[in-house]
Amino acid sequence: MYIQVRLLKSVQDPLWYRVPADWNTKNLLGAAVNVPLRNQIVPALVEKISDQKPGSYKIKYAQSKEPFPHDVSYNEFIKKLAYYYQEPPLHFIKRIRQFIVQKEVKSHADKNVSSLNHKKESVILTDEQQQIVDFLLPKITQSIYCPTLVHGVTGSGKTELYKKFIEYAMKEKRSVILLLPEVTLAVQFFNKLKQQLSIEIAIFGFHSATGPKEKRLLWQKIVSAEPVLIIGVHLPILLPIENLGLIIIDEEHEMGFQEKKHPKINSKEAALLRAQLCEIPIILGSATPSLSSLYNVQQRGWHFFQLKKRFAGEFPKIAVVPLNDKKKRKYFWITDKLKNAISDRLTKKEQTILFLNRRGYSFFVQCKQCSFVFSCSHCSVSLTLHCDNRLVCHYCNFAMILPIKCSDCKQTEFLKKGIGTQQLVMLLQKIYPHARIERADMDTTVNKKHWQQVMHNFESGTIDILVGTQTITKGYHFPGVTLVGILWADLNLHFPSYNAAETTLQQLIQVAGRAGRQHINSLVVVQTMMDHPVFDYLNEIDYIKFFKKEFASRKEVKYPPYMRLAEIELKHQDESIIADEAQQLANELSARINKDAVRLLGPTLPPVHKVKKIYMRKIYLKSKNIHLLIDLFQQINKKRYKSGIFFTPNP
Ligand SMILES: [Zn+2]
Ligand SMILES: [Zn+2]
Repeated sequence: MYIQVRLLKSVQDPLWYRVPADWNTKNLLGAAVNVPLRNQIVPALVEKISDQKPGSYKIKYAQSKEPFPHDVSYNEFIKKLAYYYQEPPLHFIKRIRQFIVQKEVKSHADKNVSSLNHKKESVILTDEQQQIVDFLLPKITQSIYCPTLVHGVTGSGKTELYKKFIEYAMKEKRSVILLLPEVTLAVQFFNKLKQQLSIEIAIFGFHSATGPKEKRLLWQKIVSAEPVLIIGVHLPILLPIENLGLIIIDEEHEMGFQEKKHPKINSKEAALLRAQLCEIPIILGSATPSLSSLYNVQQRGWHFFQLKKRFAGEFPKIAVVPLNDKKKRKYFWITDKLKNAISDRLTKKEQTILFLNRRGYSFFVQCKQCSFVFSCSHCSVSLTLHCDNRLVCHYCNFAMILPIKCSDCKQTEFLKKGIGTQQLVMLLQKIYPHARIERADMDTTVNKKHWQQVMHNFESGTIDILVGTQTITKGYHFPGVTLVGILWADLNLHFPSYNAAETTLQQLIQVAGRAGRQHINSLVVVQTMMDHPVFDYLNEIDYIKFFKKEFASRKEVKYPPYMRLAEIELKHQDESIIADEAQQLANELSARINKDAVRLLGPTLPPVHKVKKIYMRKIYLKSKNIHLLIDLFQQINKKRYKSGIFFTPNP
């Protein structure tokens, strides 16, 4: 028998080796092996197996095999992922195996084990929570695939549930994967669970911020089939795990589960596939469940539970206030309602969160004379003004000092349009000179220490007003907050995407949910330029009602979840080539499709169609059957095109 391998540490052509007679040849595909190359022994991954000798030249024997977990459904899982995302299977295995050939490392007992040093008070679950626990625990023991959606309002104690599930699974000697939509949230959960679990559990982070030593240590545990809790975003689901017993997905509505680079794997979808193949339960939790999950409850028999009560505190009152009511205010962006509410909180020593999903000072700078807008020379976006007078591209980080004269007409007067978080902080400092104000957005998270300090100070009450983008909307628990101001609620509502209303509502409810975690009198002020039906559903209790309405309109216009959508993206550095080829590809597809079963849209110019000097075009395919769309993509003669062509099912 012969194996074709690819070296782990370089991107050379594949090489062939002979399999020693004493090897167990089961599960050889994708296995890590050591092979001789010149005078060295180097690690490689098995890509192909053949009984035929591949050539007439002399072929050396492979040396040794790395130990690999005995996960019976793993190969099937990788095969299905490869088909779905139209990538070679090795791509998925490579993502997780960079570290497995490192040297053995010794365990630092305390770092990865939940600490039992301080006494944990055992939390008494509510009836709502207990009902879910009673339902799910037997499913872990019996190993049954049962996707379960938990719609728990903000502050309803979903984490308490997760802890019960994890502790139970560990007692049953089963491993658990916990997925979150962002690395910062994964780190937060790791720290929280390490403190709070009531039995001793091996816990590992497995994401971009995890060091190689820790990854290696985790791998050793998995190989020896010890039960572990693995917390991450994209990577954990790709690990082979013999004793996997449960998958938990928190904040399941978040886009963060889809990777940003091609192939854009969606970890939530991968997790569902994995749970199905392993025959284990999977829990999806959110205060604002996605439309697709609610659809699955309705149509595919997913189990559904609701937590309608808060653990503590009460729901805030919601006030929607128009920004453009033409009343002359001294500060356009702060309505009287919001201004008075903030003053009131400052007097009562309560805290305020102001949410604005744009960082920087102004969205863009425009010449008063000729309307010229400063834009990035590498991307098709305008530059954002920051308060140090720099113009910054938020896509490629290109930056320049704002020139004195317009590049076009040489006049010197500019309009600074749209408000960002930096400008908001300066505005607040003028209105409330004695308030303690801090900002939290992508510019301030770069410095991790400073960021943690700000979050800690806000939690402990030494900051009065926190201004932030969506980075502050998730996961944090700020007991002193009784006012949330949403500065410009319809900012993202008019984005050209079929689910703009859904994602906007989810975000607003998540932000609003930061108020009133411990208080009974809390308020959310929602400022908006334009009225929109979503503002009628800001009260969490009405969330499901919104979906009944949204379902109907999606059905009418034939969008997901009623239809399956796939995206084909073209990329090239030459604009005329990409324009031609996008049309050519659309024509090629058009000629192949059965127009009764598949609809083609495009080619379209995405809102941002050039990033870092690379141009983009998109073609969308719609059908009831995703396999038809995958088949179509497979049929494309990709060699005919100079552009890169990428496939994303469910974009
Ligand atoms: Zn000008
Ligand atoms: Zn740029």
